[in-house]
Amino acid sequence: MRSAVLSAAGKPLEIVERAVPRPGPGEVLVKVTACGMCFSEVNHLRGHYPFGTFPAVPGHEISGVVEALGEGVHWPGVGTPVGTGWIYGSCGHCDYCVRGDQILCTGAPKQVTGVNTDGGYAEYFVGRAGFVTPLPDGLDPVAGAPLMCAGITAFNGLRHAGAAAGSKVAVLGTGGVGTMALRFAAAMGARVAVVSRSRRAEEQARGFGAELFVATAEQDPAEALQAWGGADVVVNSAPDTATGLAAFGGLRPDGTLLYLGMGAENVSVPPAALVMNRVRVMGVPSGSPHDLRDTLAFAVAHGIVPEVAPVTLDEAPRVLAAMDEGTYRGDRAVITLG
Ligand SMILES: [Zn+2]
Ligand SMILES: [Zn+2]
Repeated sequence: MRSAVLSAAGKPLEIVERAVPRPGPGEVLVKVTACGMCFSEVNHLRGHYPFGTFPAVPGHEISGVVEALGEGVHWPGVGTPVGTGWIYGSCGHCDYCVRGDQILCTGAPKQVTGVNTDGGYAEYFVGRAGFVTPLPDGLDPVAGAPLMCAGITAFNGLRHAGAAAGSKVAVLGTGGVGTMALRFAAAMGARVAVVSRSRRAEEQARGFGAELFVATAEQDPAEALQAWGGADVVVNSAPDTATGLAAFGGLRPDGTLLYLGMGAENVSVPPAALVMNRVRVMGVPSGSPHDLRDTLAFAVAHGIVPEVAPVTLDEAPRVLAAMDEGTYRGDRAVITLG
């Protein structure tokens, strides 16, 4: 089969011919239809993941069709369209796994799709049967691929941070996760503000339901959010820490600063503001299999389809290099293989 491989940190993605993998006990073979290209692949390429391994087939926004079942597997059946994301597997017996929160598993080293197991930049992918999720009817497997990472991260982050009908959500950033957070928050019935450096994405943001757009080149984000009445949830989708800190003062009492994207620097906020206003700072990492079911069902019910730019596997090295250089422009690239 054709696959794209990261051979070592700092080396460009290469197209490599490999044998089709065989599903072992508890595993399923998936014929890949599409795989979204996430900024996490750039972090892996740069060697930023302590748990990342090489060589690896990257990619964790996978949609495809079950092609074969390993020993002991009876579900999902051959021919089932499925999707899978960041979490590849877990121990199955720690407190978090038992309560269905596998993303927080403490019982085994983290198994991450495409980071320390082979992922979806290939014609075939082997996954754990309990960690692939059947696609709901009506979900386009190409446009829907980014829901497996950007989508679940935004959806799960919003609900853990308490976003609800009538609450006020400020989304920092207009990339893949930020746009998903805006669309999900609006569909949940929240009032949404979008904060970005320039006004370049304002029209699109307002089209997706943003009632306020703040350009930080013109306005202090905390002051602008306070003038709006303050945010119950501030969502940092940008891949840096400082963006969230700059908007911290825009929280209302009992509000939450939510980190979905982050940089390497510490989160440093005035403790008196935390205590006196009963404010929280939290982070959310993707989600568990049941969270992916909820994300996909919610997206289909509300007609939320990510904006994507389909690319071929041969184009993937060039696109990933451009993402690494910061020169990639456009909608989320999705490798189509089906
Ligand atoms: Zn991702
Ligand atoms: Zn566990």
